Order: sequence, then structure tokens, then C-alpha cells
Amino acid sequence: MFDKILIANRGEIACRVIRTARRMGIRTVAVHSEADARAMHVQMADEAVCIGPAPVGESYLRGDVILEVAKRTGAQAVHPGYGFLSENAAFAAACAEAGVVFIGPPIEAIRVMGSKAESKRVMSQADVPLVPGYHGEAQDFATLSAEAERIGYPVLVKASAGGGGKGMRVVRSAGELADAVAGAQREAKAAFGDDSLLLEKYLGRPRHVEIQVFADTHGNAVYLFERDCSVQRRHQKVIEEAPAPNLPDEIRRRMGEAAVAAAKAVNYVGAGTVEFLYEDGGFYFIEMNTRLQVEHPVTEMITGLDLVEWQLRVAAGGELPLRQDQLTRRGHAFEARLYAEDPQREFLPAIGRLVHLKPPAETAHVRVDTGVRQGDEVTMFYDPMIAKLIVWDEDRDAALRRLRVALSQYEVVGVTTNVGFLGAIAGHPAFRAVELDTGFIERHRADLLPPPAAVPDRGLAVAALAVLLRRRAETKAAPRAAGDPNSPWLFANGWRLNEETHYDLRLMDGETAREVTLHFRPDGYEVAVDGGAPLAATGIALADGVLTGSIGGAKVRATVVQQGLDLTILSEGAVWRLKLDDPSARAAEQEGGSGRLTAPMPGTVVRVLVEPGQAVEAGAPLMLLEAMKMEHTIKAPAAGTVSAVNFAAGDQVSEGVDLLVLDIAEG
Ligand code: ADP
Ligand code: MG
Repeated sequence: MFDKILIANRGEIACRVIRTARRMGIRTVAVHSEADARAMHVQMADEAVCIGPAPVGESYLRGDVILEVAKRTGAQAVHPGYGFLSENAAFAAACAEAGVVFIGPPIEAIRVMGSKAESKRVMSQADVPLVPGYHGEAQDFATLSAEAERIGYPVLVKASAGGGGKGMRVVRSAGELADAVAGAQREAKAAFGDDSLLLEKYLGRPRHVEIQVFADTHGNAVYLFERDCSVQRRHQKVIEEAPAPNLPDEIRRRMGEAAVAAAKAVNYVGAGTVEFLYEDGGFYFIEMNTRLQVEHPVTEMITGLDLVEWQLRVAAGGELPLRQDQLTRRGHAFEARLYAEDPQREFLPAIGRLVHLKPPAETAHVRVDTGVRQGDEVTMFYDPMIAKLIVWDEDRDAALRRLRVALSQYEVVGVTTNVGFLGAIAGHPAFRAVELDTGFIERHRADLLPPPAAVPDRGLAVAALAVLLRRRAETKAAPRAAGDPNSPWLFANGWRLNEETHYDLRLMDGETAREVTLHFRPDGYEVAVDGGAPLAATGIALADGVLTGSIGGAKVRATVVQQGLDLTILSEGAVWRLKLDDPSARAAEQEGGSGRLTAPMPGTVVRVLVEPGQAVEAGAPLMLLEAMKMEHTIKAPAAGTVSAVNFAAGDQVSEGVDLLVLDIAEG
């Protein structure tokens, strides 16, 4: 076995490989871009080396630099993860030349399977059933259109070098073919540097069922059952599961054997996935991925095996740990891919800081594979996946329940995510009923992507109570001269001083202003939203950003995260966003100042320039903050009186915290 390996990847897969290596007593070398200097995989590895600037072409795709690092650090093998260099035959060849083991299949297998067309030619020789289609070398339009006629419309135009759903076009009739071919060629050329195409019969309602295979250098090859990845959006997997529900055992066995035959046909070694479409009892090879697949954890959950351990053993020349007849499976597993993206805006990647990140607790039933921590940034340079949430239980219904609960517990604030969308799929009756095929998401679009709803009254009540309790705590923590008794920043003091009985708060729900009135009662509060019937709020407490108690007779438990004026409320799987309509900020906006006395980024307080009670002019410097090796001056957005200084020199502050409180002078 190796003593030291290099992981040529980042994010969750790099972390996942490091975990297994560590368990096996193998030392690890991480490589990283400048943007990833403090990334999770860098911190987890025993050693880390910077290989270049943020763009992948200048770092994670620099095979030459990575091999240099492998030699310099004494790494005996390179694990490529998925994506990046994992299916790059030239890189595998360069590894061999450098005397470093590539943890993956032989170069020739990567090359053949890297071309969908060539792999289909080889598969048809090996009697693996194919989707009817054309995978010849001739690419002139006359040939393609004659073949499309022969196959019969609708046909699917695919990039032979394709992956990740790119370069694919559905063509419904002959008239659409020319445009689709031109478009697919352009896309394929740009994405893969190769514009060769193939044609396939476009199946109407297939399921995507794939087989995990494994082979060693001693002639052994097995299949580790299947995964169903039918829940897709734009041909990309969203939720995967194992085993494939309602798949007859006989089909499972035949598919498994066909996949092993496919692997043997290319002298495969290591982990691979043979993808099939399954429709009306028939199954058809579409492609083989010559690497560890994103969704491999569901296979690990039902087999109890560690596929990365198997990869390492095979790459070190060992035999497969188990034979086909020793492989068993138990229970059911799901994986959901949690992305920083906005389902309401065509799933556009969302970038920003993970201001608050709290995954569900990991147990025997729940596994979280992630490469980011709270405070990390999702940038435009890399895949915006935040985590893979994996659950297991004895049967599909129980596992699905686990998935719904775990999704509802996943708390992410700072970037928009698809967690609600995933929850909608997991909770959909058709998904529960195994009405599965690759058109699932499109067919149920209206249910899965409802238009954004107004924040419910309960959410507004939670927000207002949290703001109230937080401000009360702040004013207690920072006693200062009483400023404007009506300032919302200080109202906790204000109402007591004035013996007022209620408090009004205005919150923006998107473009809509919402009014919350809080009445103080001996046993708690009464909360009325937009002048509606008041809800009784009792036993309300706020600790570590979590509000608990009872509102309108129902128990509540909500995490409330505040960044400046932005409030995010996470409760029972729902996420509500509101903005404080804050008069001091409005005043500041009118002054043209920033209006935010909050930390613009995480940093250290260098100096405090004012004290509570001090009157300041607009623009006066209040505090110096050091962040990202630069000093930032927090200035008064308008003339006023400093009413609280919440931090002292040397304190660490996180982004969005209130540094000081200023009473803006009237007028
Ligand atoms: P990629 O390399 O992008 O993963 P695949 O060939 O594996 O490309 O196809 C991706 C997805 O596209 C499949 O899982 C399936 O949903 C859909 N697809 C591919 N081929 C067909 C086909 N012939 N008919 C219908 N859907 C298909
Ligand atoms: Mg595929």
C-alpha cells in the first residue's frame, strides 16, 4: 500500500478521499489554487501545495504542475476525484511516465470510454445492448440526417466527448436537425475541444439506472449493484438512490453482468460506472464513466463498503476484497445534491459567503459529504455544490422520511440554495410512489417550483421577537447614555423608560412592507401582523441565534441569522428572508453614507475611536477594522450620538455583526 498520495481535486471529493486515506494510515498531499488557500481540503490534508491562480485552467487542470508536486512531496500515487483530470487519458499517461500511480483505469480504457461513439462501437462487439442510434465516424450532415430518418424522430444529438449533460439536443422532427447539429457542435467544440456527434433514439420515459463496477489487475471484476439517478434537471442528476426501486432482480442481474462485460471489453481496472437507460423492461448502454462517481456514497451505504478504500487497494496492486457472490446489500439510500443556486432564477449559480452553515447531525442514518465550512465563500470559479446529503434506512419509505427530515434541518444562510427544491422532490407523492423517469422534474415543475410565497405571519412574528430579544441583549451588554428614546436601535430601553406597552416594527418582505406590532403581556407578548388578529407568544427565548417558545399555541424553534439589515429565518424546513426597514439606514442612504455600522467582512478591531455618549459629525471615523490584510474605517453615516460600542481593540468580529450603535440626530 502507498505511504503517501496526492489528491488532485478540491471540495467535498478531496475531503472524502482524505478521510479514507487517513483511516488507512496513508499520508495525504492536497493541491490548491490561490483562492482555496484556506479551504477545508487544504486544512484536512497532511501537506498542501499551492499550484496556481483561481481559474481551473491555471491550477486544478495543470497536470504538469501537479505531477511536479507529487514528485517533490514524494507522493506515490494521484487520486483525481471526479471532474478535472479524472478522465483525462493524457494526464494518466503523464503519471505513468513520471512513475506516479494514477488511481484510475488504464489509459486505453479512459480513451475508449471517453468517446461515447467509440465506446458504443466496442460495446456492440461485446453484446452489450445499446440505445438504437448512429455512432459512426462520418459526420457530414447528409449522413447524419439519413441516419436520423432511419432511427426515427425524436432523436437525441449528443457530443461524443460529452459529459455533465453538455452538447445535447433533442430533435423532434427533421426540420430541427440542422440547427441542433450546429448548436451541439459549437457547444462540444467549446466544452471538450472535439465536435464529433452521435445520434440516439430519444426514449420517451426512461429511467437512468447505472451499475457500479470494480475490477482489479488480477482479472477479477464485480458489480456492486445499481443506482437510480432518474431525477434529473437538464440531464444532470439531482437526487440519486440505491437500489433502483421496483427493479426486478432478474433485470438487476442481467444489467450487472452486462456492465461487467462492458468493463472486461476494455480491460478495465478500478472503479467505474456503466450507465444505462431502462424503459419498458429493456435496458440500453449509454456511456461509461471511468472514475469514482459523485453519487457513489449511496452504493457505500447499502453495501457497507468504502469504495475509495477499494480504489486504493486496487491501485496498489491488490485483489478485490470480495467476490461477486460475497457482495450483499441492505436497506435503501438516497443522496441529494445541495447546491448554491437559485431555483427561482433558472438555477443560476449563487455566489457569496456561507454566513451560517449548519448541516444535520451525522448519525448511522445521515451522512454529509461536504468541502465547505461556515464562513467559507462560494465563488464563481468552481462548482457551487455545498454538500451531498446521504441518508440510509431499512426500506425506501423510511429512508425517504430520513431525507425529508435531514433536508429540513440543513441550515444555509448567505447564498441561495436548492434545499427547498430538494425538499419538494423528496416530499412529492409521485416520488414516494416511484413514478420515476428522467422527465420527473419537468412533469412536476409547478409543484416543485411554486412561485415565491409571502412570509407567513408566524415567520414575521419570529423575526420581530428575535429582533426584540437581540436588541434587548445588546442594550444590556452595552449600557450607554440614553439617546433618542424612540430609536429602534434602543427601543428596549425606550419602552421601559416611557412605559410604553407596545412596539412596532416594519419589515420588508421582498418589495412588500409588513408591519408587526408587539404588545407586552405579563406572560409574554401578543404579536399582530399587518393589523391582523394577535397571536399569543409565550415562553419566548433566544439563545445562540435560536428562538424557542410558542406562537399562536404552536411550538416554534427557529434559527434567526442577521447580517446588517437582512434577516434570515430558518424554521421547520422553511427559509424566510426579510429586511429590517431601519430609519437610521434610510437616513444614511439619504446622506449617501453606507449606513451600516456592521462589520463589512470578518476581521479584527484595531482601534476604537469614540466612546458611548460622544456626539459625532457625519463622516467621523468611529472604528478601525483589519480584514483581508487591509484596514477599513467605519465612519458615521450621519451626525448623531454614539450610543453603544460593542467591541474593543483586539476583538475578532464576524461579518455582519453590529460594531457600534449610533443615534442619528433628527433633522
Ligand atoms: P453525460 O455524459 O452528459 O452524462 P449521458 O449520455 O450519460 O451524458 O446522458 C445524460 C442523461 O441524458 C441521461 O441520464 C438521460 O437522462 C438523458 N439521455 C441520454 N441519452 C438519452 C436517450 N437516448 N433518450 C432519452 N434520454 C437520454
Ligand atoms: Mg452520464
